[in-house]
Formats: sequence, structure tokens, C-alpha cells
Amino acid sequence: MERAKVNQEINLNNYNDVWVIGELIGGKIHPVTIELIGEGRKLSDSINKKLNVVVVGYQVKEAAEKLLNYGVDKVLYVEHELLKDFNTEGYSITISNLINERKPEIVLLGATSIGRDIGPRLAAKIGTGLTADCTKLEIDETDGKLLQTRPAFGGNLMATIICPKNRPQMSTVRPGVMAKAKQIDKITGVVEVIMPILNEEDLRVKLIDKITSVKKRVNLIEAKVVVSGGRGLKESAGFKLIQELADALGGEVGSSRAAVDAGWIESPHQVGQTGTTVRPDLYVACGISGAIQHQAGMHESEYIVAINKDPRAPIFEICDFGIVGDLYEVIPAMIEAIREKNFLEI
Ligand SMILES: Cc1cc2nc3c(=O)[nH]c(=O)nc-3n(C[C@H](O)[C@H](O)[C@H](O)COP(=O)(O)OP(=O)(O)OC[C@H]3O[C@@H](n4cnc5c(N)ncnc54)[C@H](O)[C@@H]3O)c2cc1C
Repeated sequence: MERAKVNQEINLNNYNDVWVIGELIGGKIHPVTIELIGEGRKLSDSINKKLNVVVVGYQVKEAAEKLLNYGVDKVLYVEHELLKDFNTEGYSITISNLINERKPEIVLLGATSIGRDIGPRLAAKIGTGLTADCTKLEIDETDGKLLQTRPAFGGNLMATIICPKNRPQMSTVRPGVMAKAKQIDKITGVVEVIMPILNEEDLRVKLIDKITSVKKRVNLIEAKVVVSGGRGLKESAGFKLIQELADALGGEVGSSRAAVDAGWIESPHQVGQTGTTVRPDLYVACGISGAIQHQAGMHESEYIVAINKDPRAPIFEICDFGIVGDLYEVIPAMIEAIREKNFLEI
């Protein structure tokens, strides 16, 4: 495939519509796809364009069709036997060809393993820019351009990035950052099936085997309750107490990066700018100071409870309920109260 010339002049008026690159994992829709549809709809409505979702796979048309329930105008279902499992080259070739052919104005991808893999490749093949890990997307009312905002300089400031001369304008968004699209009552969208030409020789990487991790999966993104521990725990054994509180509340265990760096807990539990972004109904921060990089991953939670022995800790500035005290005294008392009264129903 020929490489695109990045600096060539393009006619911006030739580009239309907002696209979401959807993800199906084992035939199931990845939650980030629904979140991107929600955001994509807002953008497409504000520029008066259509919202399409691209789904790549093999024999998963039924699952792809379900995306119409979320109010998209069209599902572009790209089907090929060689695309049954994710393949970097296969996905990048077919999606970039489709983008070059149909010319969307905006393309959104999840900042997932797949999105982070193909996003930069698509941008390079097409000859456009890509803003990774956006936390806010909006349309500039003066010129209709996409304003892509993301944390910069270690999260100490927010940078708004534009792509003035190239198209499409491409962004990735981490799972859990945007609100999910709601299901609609009456479907008006359609599915278009696209059969790309792809040969085995086009794909240099072959899938030989799939090995499922035996470790318990941490599902912070979907959790309604997240109980996180930080450096205030003082030692790895402190996470037993955090797990107990999480179990009592029916939630998952999260952590600050300091706890991960100390080797007290594994990185999939990390919440924050370089960890997972969560928005549960209840977030309990235990022994976490509330650094801006931690807040970046949890400040959208519905209710935030903070337990910290320092009344000046920044976490108290964003919490709904703050308890100033030693977590080793407060948490056991909370667990006892929850178990006795069983009063928490979320
Ligand atoms: C580029 C970059 C990316 C980063 N990404 C992330 C990220 O994704 N997630 C993240 O969390 N951090 C991230 N960080 C690190 C972040 O800046 C902080 O260093 C980190 O969040 C601090 O973790 P902490 O709150 O557990 O520790 P500390 O800041 O040390 O806070 C510990 C808190 O525990 C309290 N405490 C101590 N003992 C007790 C007790 N017995 N009972 C109750 N409270 C107690 C203390 O008062 C203190 O407030 C990032 C930093 C950079 C530069």
C-alpha cells in the first residue's frame, strides 16, 4: 500500500460524517463502542452529519446489527474470513481503505489495546493526525472543527488540539470516560455489508493460538462500586482490608499508582490518568491523597467517599463524604456497619 503524503493540500469539503470504529470481543460489543456512539452522536448532530459505526469481523453480522439500537445511522459491517480474529495489518488495511474511499470527517476509536494498535497506523496510512486519550470532544462553533482535549504535561494542564489541514480528524478515548449512548425505541439506521479484498500474503502476522489468562479479570470499568487503596495502606497486606470492604459493598478493588509502584497490587487495578478511568455509582478512596492524575480517572464517579487522616488532602476537595481518620480504624467499623445493617443497596 502506498503511504499517504502528509502535507498535501486536501479539500476539506469532501469530508463528511462521523465514524466510530466499533469493537466486538468474542462477538460481544465492547462498552467503549457504546460510549463512543454517545459522543459521536453529539458531534454529528452539531455539524448536521450522519453517525456511522464500522465493525470488522467474520460471521458477526447479528452482533453488529445490535448497534442500530443505539441510534446510529449506518453500521458499515466489513466481513472477511481473514478478519475473524483481530489482526493489526488486516484491520488497518481494510479500515484505511474504507476511510480513503468514503472520507469521514471525524473518526473516533477506543483507547483499548486494539484502538491503540490501529489508531496510529490508520493515521499514518491516511496522512492525518491523531489525538490520543481525549477526555473531552466538542465542535468549535466558529468553524466546525473538532476540539480534542486531553491531559498534557503529566496531567498538570489540559491541552486542546485541532487538526486544521488534514482529514479525518481522529481521536482515541479511553473506556469509561464518556457516557454510554441510550437505546432508542425505533430503529431507523441500516447495515451495509462490505466485502473487502484481502489476501493471506497481506497479513504478515498469523494467529497461532489463543491463551486465556488464568488470573481473575479486574473489571473496574463496569463496576458500580470501586474501593481503592493508596500509599496510606503502608503495606500490601492492607489490600486485604480493601478487598473486604469491596466485598461487603459488592464492588471491585482499585488502587492509586503509588500502591502499584510499591508492588502491593497489580497494575490492572490502577485508577487514574495512566490507569483505568472509572465512573461507578460509588468510589471509596482509602489512604489516597487525590493527586490530579488519580482524580483524572475517578472524578466522574457519582458519589465519592474519602478516608484520609490528613484533613488537607486534595481528595477532600472533590469528595461527597469525607472521613478524617485512620483507615485501619474507619474501614473495619464501616464493614461491620454494612454487614450488620446490610443497608447499602445501589
Ligand atoms: C504522568 C503521571 C501519571 C500518573 N498517573 C497516575 C495514575 O494513573 N493514578 C494514580 O493514582 N497516580 C498517578 N500518578 C501519580 C500521582 O501523581 C500520585 O503520586 C499518586 O496518585 C499518589 O498516590 P497515593 O495517593 O496513594 O499516595 P500519597 O500521595 O502518598 O497519599 C497517601 C495518602 O494516605 C494518607 N494516609 C496515610 N496513612 C493513612 C492512614 N493510616 N489512614 C488514612 N489515610 C492515611 C496520607 O494522608 C496521604 O494523603 C501519575 C503521575 C504522573 C507524573
